[in-house]
Amino acid sequence: MPGKICNLPTMKLVHLREVDLQPYHTFGLKVTASEMHKIDSEELLLWLISNGILRDRELLVLGGGSNVLFTQEVEALILKNEMMGIELIKETEQEVVIRVGAGENWHELVMHCISQGWGGIENLSLIPGCVGAAPMQNIGAYGVELQQVFESLEAIDLRTGMQVFMNKENCQFGYRESVFKKGLKGKFMIARVLLRLTKPGHHQLNTSYGAIQTQLDLLKISPPTIKDISEVVCQIRRSKLPDPAEIGNAGSFFKNPVISAEHFEKIAADFETVPHYPQEDGRIKVPAGWLIQTCGYKGKTLGNYGVHKNQALVLVNYGGANGADIYALSEEIKQAVSSRFAIDLDREVNVY
Ligand code: FAD
Ligand code: NAP
Repeated sequence: MPGKICNLPTMKLVHLREVDLQPYHTFGLKVTASEMHKIDSEELLLWLISNGILRDRELLVLGGGSNVLFTQEVEALILKNEMMGIELIKETEQEVVIRVGAGENWHELVMHCISQGWGGIENLSLIPGCVGAAPMQNIGAYGVELQQVFESLEAIDLRTGMQVFMNKENCQFGYRESVFKKGLKGKFMIARVLLRLTKPGHHQLNTSYGAIQTQLDLLKISPPTIKDISEVVCQIRRSKLPDPAEIGNAGSFFKNPVISAEHFEKIAADFETVPHYPQEDGRIKVPAGWLIQTCGYKGKTLGNYGVHKNQALVLVNYGGANGADIYALSEEIKQAVSSRFAIDLDREVNVY
């Protein structure tokens, strides 16, 4: 990995060539990127832009690499976000607003907030990756989504260097969606994210989702603190999900589809026990994992890759797999679900 590190007057330029991306993403694929710049400040990014270093180059912003699948060698110039810092910028009796560098690790941020007594993101414990990617797909788990605590973000236009401030409305958050996965895909680097969190006495706990309440009951915890909820979420997640440090994966490969009530009735006529979650707009969410499992893919192994044995929503690299093969498997699964249930699964993972 030859490259150079040089100290500009107040900035550290880290420029690497022929970078092995295996340690930079959780699928753990053997892929090389032609170039990478590590970006630890807005100042450095603006310097690269104003000196034409990013001009006419395909760019790819990378955080923790836990939501990407590389299907080929990466020609794009990778901008690895390493902007750090957690600042308390506003405090009232009920809440705080914090401003967090995009390169901060998400789970470590959750742990820090819990240690300060700040609530709102405890259900999002143990989600891998960095803070800057959290708005990308409006990360969500156990009935909580980022948008519930999101205040605003600061981003930089990668072509012009213009710094923009975006509120919740501008981000167009949806179910594992935002404007950054649609119209603005690849155009901005998110630099800082501002979150509004609650202080003790003002927390709004959510224990009704998945196995949280059952687990709290089992442990005889009542009433739970934000720390209790975080610990229970971590326990459940560790028991169900493959750890990327052991088996390469990017979490849920597909989003859970939300279908019309009529469509759901047709499926339920054949499968009485289909799990389902009615939405506020009258449509029904059906777990993609159930659809994939019902098509016979749970645990399916094709040499060194496949579908995880406990969670059909997670595609895995057992070691030495090829991203293009994993993508082909995802395509096969999409077709199987489409022909059996007339549902088009959307990939949640960002494919490059
Ligand atoms: P990366 O994978 O590095 O990037 C993802 C996308 O965001 C890419 O398109 C990239 O270009 C873009 N991006 C990254 N940083 C920036 C930035 N600063 N500015 C602009 N664009 C950027 N997700 C959930 O929502 N809920 C879960 O419960 C959950 N559980 C998971 C469990 C496991 C085991 C794994 C492996 C993944 C899970 N995920 C989950 C998916 C993933 O962790 C999240 O989407 C996470 O936010 C990705 O962060 P990252 O830094 O790794 O992003
Ligand atoms: P689970 O609890 O076994 O539930 C299966 C699916 O049913 C989930 O996908 C969830 O949808 C849905 N669900 C469960 N209870 C629900 C409720 N009360 N109301 C509405 N929908 C409900 O799921 P799991 O696989 O163990 O994951 C637990 C949580 O972590 C989920 O929220 C999941 O999204 C999140 N997670 C996400 C990723 C990722 O990569 N995106 C990876 C692992 C876990 P939702 O997914 O819409 O919540």
